[in-house]
Amino acid sequence: MPELPEVETVRRGLERQLHDFSIERIEVLRARAVAWPPDPELFCVALQGCRVGHWQRRGKYLIAALEQQGEPAGHWGVHLRMTGQFLWLEQPREPCSHTRVRLWSSSGQELRFVDTRSFGQMWWVPPGQPPEAVITGLQKLGPEPFSDGFSPTYLAQRLAGSSRPIKSALLDQALVAGVGNIYADESLFLSGIAPSTASGRIGLARLETLHAALVEVLHTSIGAGGTTFSDFRDLSGTNGNYGNAAWVYRRGGEPCRVCGTTIRRDRLGGRSSHWCPQCQSGG
Ligand SMILES: [Zn+2]
Repeated sequence: MPELPEVETVRRGLERQLHDFSIERIEVLRARAVAWPPDPELFCVALQGCRVGHWQRRGKYLIAALEQQGEPAGHWGVHLRMTGQFLWLEQPREPCSHTRVRLWSSSGQELRFVDTRSFGQMWWVPPGQPPEAVITGLQKLGPEPFSDGFSPTYLAQRLAGSSRPIKSALLDQALVAGVGNIYADESLFLSGIAPSTASGRIGLARLETLHAALVEVLHTSIGAGGTTFSDFRDLSGTNGNYGNAAWVYRRGGEPCRVCGTTIRRDRLGGRSSHWCPQCQSGG
């Protein structure tokens, strides 16, 4: 599943590729790809003729500003969920069976949304409304990991008294936006905390280490263009390099890169956790 670095990589690709992209024509091949308006036909009518402006990212959401004849025409929201991806096609090409939405420029280039599992979603936010009024998932998001609002003190306050495993807390988008399984596992390794540790039992010094590790691992991965884990691809169909450097993620059964102990893969809160029982004994 794409996490913050992958979504940020897609955002940068869209920003670069769609510079001056006006939607000449749009086709929705699968209705459930459009979360709002309820009728996909209205979505098409709203986006047709719009110029796609600046793309912003909030958590794992992508939000583009739309313009029509120089006037604001609302926003276009996208969540890739499990397997959603954009492809940029300079030349006409037949759609594959997983193609959900197609958008063409006046010169025949196509931006194609392909989604094997079909959980990806798009929204049109009418002009004058804030994106969170329509994309309600935005309302529940915690601070961005790179923002001032996300600090060791914030973590200490939010996790105080909690018996929830720290791994589950990190996956909670209301605590911090954009973190998923990969970066939760990697940052817990780097800060020496076992995934099952009760959140409220982790001291401030250790939370400072965790905070720094999470920010660092997300930064590194964005620089590498996302991760090679899972099926992530950017607009040109390539994936990033972070996977080559994973400490624990998807390394269950292999020796720890630091101490040689066998990396464990445990189920925790319905998700796999990869960790080293030797290096991650702190709290
Ligand atoms: Zn180890």
